[in-house]
Amino acid sequence: MDSAGDTSLLLSLEDVTPVHEENAQGRSPFLLSCDHYGRLIPRALGDLGLEASELTRHIAWDIGIAEVAEALSNHLGAHLVAQRYSRLVIDCNRPPGAPASIPRISEATVIPGNEGLSREAAEARRRAIFDPYHRRIREIIDQRLSDAVPTVLVSLHSFTPVYAGIARPWHIGTLYHRDPKLPPLLLKWLRAEPDLVVGDNEPYAVSDETDYTIPVHGEARGLMNSGIEIRQDLIADQSGQQQWAERLARIFSEIELALRAQGALLA
Ligand SMILES: [Zn+2]
Repeated sequence: MDSAGDTSLLLSLEDVTPVHEENAQGRSPFLLSCDHYGRLIPRALGDLGLEASELTRHIAWDIGIAEVAEALSNHLGAHLVAQRYSRLVIDCNRPPGAPASIPRISEATVIPGNEGLSREAAEARRRAIFDPYHRRIREIIDQRLSDAVPTVLVSLHSFTPVYAGIARPWHIGTLYHRDPKLPPLLLKWLRAEPDLVVGDNEPYAVSDETDYTIPVHGEARGLMNSGIEIRQDLIADQSGQQQWAERLARIFSEIELALRAQGALLA
């Protein structure tokens, strides 16, 4: 695989397109994005030099979130746009060029296929995977704004229960930076659930240096927005995924009503 990463046409006809969508005609104000939905690797990149067991771990994708995102999209009638390729190929929630964009090491795992990558090979990953995904999100938002469809961006993620040896107590966290409207409502409704430990910008906060989707598609476009992180052990199986999708659908429906009552969803 030494020169395979240098191809300018990274995806072949046997590779699927990077962008996955559900409920594109949905009428919900919530636009769902899922940057770490999939763990595919373009055929030209082989296995990136990793064991199969590494490619199913949280370093490759956000475990459980794909099913939660799809079920939530169906419950709400909300347009979901998702990225099918692994964050180890190129992380679609990192600014291109940032060290974590194409990680050489993820947690304690060295990614051999990302070592010594040429500028051209990095560019090829961006053009094949990162660019089409973000171009599509931009187009969807452009269309909604031009059709005067109220739009609230919600970016869905999951986090590993133990990171670098430390157990994380939260069941779910909100991630935000500049939006003053949606995050407080989301925190209020999540905290009203008696069984939940809710993180406020935990286990991560959003920043321009470490994130892409929220700063670029949410904040820069003036949309209400928040990220959500769900702990992976809670959504590791179908029953957990369905329960969390139902819970979030109920909460987002309440939030939609609250926003409408505030006049915040007027076109
Ligand atoms: Zn993620």
